[in-house]
Amino acid sequence: MIKITDLHKSYKIGKNSLHVLKGINFNVEEGELVAIMGSSGSGKSTLLNIIGMLDTADSGTYNLDGLEIKNMNETKAAQYRNRFLGFIFQSFNLINYKNALENIALPLFYKGINRTERQKIAMKYLSKVGLAKWEKHLPSELSGGQKQRVAIARAMVTQPKVLLADELTGALDSTTSIEVMSLIQEINNNGKTILVVTHEEDIAMMCKRIIRLKDGVILEDKKVKQIIAK
Ligand code: ADP
Ligand code: MG
Repeated sequence: MIKITDLHKSYKIGKNSLHVLKGINFNVEEGELVAIMGSSGSGKSTLLNIIGMLDTADSGTYNLDGLEIKNMNETKAAQYRNRFLGFIFQSFNLINYKNALENIALPLFYKGINRTERQKIAMKYLSKVGLAKWEKHLPSELSGGQKQRVAIARAMVTQPKVLLADELTGALDSTTSIEVMSLIQEINNNGKTILVVTHEEDIAMMCKRIIRLKDGVILEDKKVKQIIAK
């Protein structure tokens, strides 16, 4: 599903350059639940943004579902993002003036799906995350955990091949974090490939494999006995 070889990335800051990813190699098969774990500043988000086609590497190769991702213009990149990838962020990134159902339906609008069909599909995903009764509620009327559930439904609604989550429990208390991870495990058990970036060991342990990053290199990459969130 994902093949990454010798990926390098530096940021230019004035005359200086900060080498953030220093030769990253790993593959992810379909159906895996992988944690990318490391302390703050280790390059996790940089790596996830490259995988999410929100940024590009300086060198190395990235292959997504058999397709080499390189030299793509923004229109093309946006098409592939919409087709292959779903994003979940720490800060939910919901649209404040749209209710739960409308937030979930929005990616379908960009796919050119008609309003009736959008509502129907969005409702199905709202139910999947256990929020069927909250369709009319605005993000401001939802708890942190509920907001993240809406964001997960929004990420799933276009049926992407891969879900990418950057510190998805970072704004949640520990009980809510476990509930959200339980949902992630359920979605993965239904076959979805998921990459979870986290700096929290207990969140990483709820995945099936942990890739440990430190200062832009992979320290360790191994399958783990998954802790079941409940
Ligand atoms: P993590 O997600 O593991 O905390 P990041 O990938 O966000 O790490 O950042 C890795 C390093 O790159 C940090 O030192 C950060 O300050 C730096 N960095 C991240 N994004 C940028 C940017 N757009 N410009 C310059 N430096 C950046
Ligand atoms: Mg980060």
